[in-house]
Amino acid sequence: MAVVETRGLKKQFGEVKAVDGVDLSSKEGEFLVLLGPSGCGKTTLLRLIAGLEQPTAGEVLIGGQVVNGLPPRARKIAMVFQSYALYPHMTVFNNIAFSLKAQGVDKAARQEKVEWATSILGIDKLLQRRPRQLSGGERQRVALARCLVREPTVFLLDEPLSNLDAQLRASARDELQQLQQRIGITTIYVTHDQVEAMGMGDRIAVMYQGQIRQLGTPREIYDEPGDTFVATFLGSPPMNLVERDTHLIGFRPEHFLPKGVPEVQDNLVTFSFPVTRVEYLGADRLVYGVVAGTSGDTKTMARLPSTVTVPIEPGGDYEFVVPAKELKFFDRDTGLRTGPKPL
Ligand code: ATP
Repeated sequence: MAVVETRGLKKQFGEVKAVDGVDLSSKEGEFLVLLGPSGCGKTTLLRLIAGLEQPTAGEVLIGGQVVNGLPPRARKIAMVFQSYALYPHMTVFNNIAFSLKAQGVDKAARQEKVEWATSILGIDKLLQRRPRQLSGGERQRVALARCLVREPTVFLLDEPLSNLDAQLRASARDELQQLQQRIGITTIYVTHDQVEAMGMGDRIAVMYQGQIRQLGTPREIYDEPGDTFVATFLGSPPMNLVERDTHLIGFRPEHFLPKGVPEVQDNLVTFSFPVTRVEYLGADRLVYGVVAGTSGDTKTMARLPSTVTVPIEPGGDYEFVVPAKELKFFDRDTGLRTGPKPL
């Protein structure tokens, strides 16, 4: 049984279709990421699941029960926001114990639960501090502990790491993922950061304009994108798309290599590649150029690892190859993935 399920879920704000017919089903204990550009409806979808917004149409189910109409506190969910929303005048202990007290949990049980959650999160030494005396990462852990004590069946996290600096963010990401695995709680996590999504998600739902464009494991989404939006949203630099008649040929920059470089020589497709610019990035070289498409030249990129030392200069005309199995085909008009087409 899915922990969280949505059926034909829609939310409209005036003319804006923030969530436009989402059917989503999470698996027990999984880390599910909602990924998409700003304004695609991720937060609205999470708020609909939490009960903080009412849908225009469709259903939300938690643990198999339709929860439309139930207030957030009756849904057995816990939500952590970007801002953490800790009470500044309360100690860490009281911040975490607050909801338990409101529920009438007795003092000894409150103490026990707070100790349990804070030891899991490694913040048991901070119980008497106030939020302003904590680092961003510690505040995040307090916000998580506050959720944990409520023993929710699902965690809803909305960009909880976005206030942290890059270094702290990497370690907080690691910690959060380990915690989730340890306690095995189904988690739905919103982010617009593809690195975070790829690194943390068991599955990723890629959203665009209020809809889920593709749902799959990080590998499925990256290797087998279902449409040109997913193909170009993931990957840095994104997938190259070259127009040929009624279709687009897609290939990733890391699969586009100078002829002679790939060890395997079978089933390679050759493109003529006049190079306009080369960027040396240390571990990689980014090579910019053009590949001839039906409606003129298409800007195309190659990413060469530093182990590829073949000289490439701007102004040169080279032959680059892509293994045939790495070519993906899309319909030019709908953007949807199709079967292979003649080159
Ligand atoms: P971001 O990554 O920027 O937070 P998001 O993917 O979470 O974006 P949402 O916040 O869900 O996107 O917003 C989806 C769309 O709905 C946007 O066009 C937004 O302007 C609109 N929207 C969201 N909340 C409201 C509201 N309360 N009233 C009117 N429009 C809203």
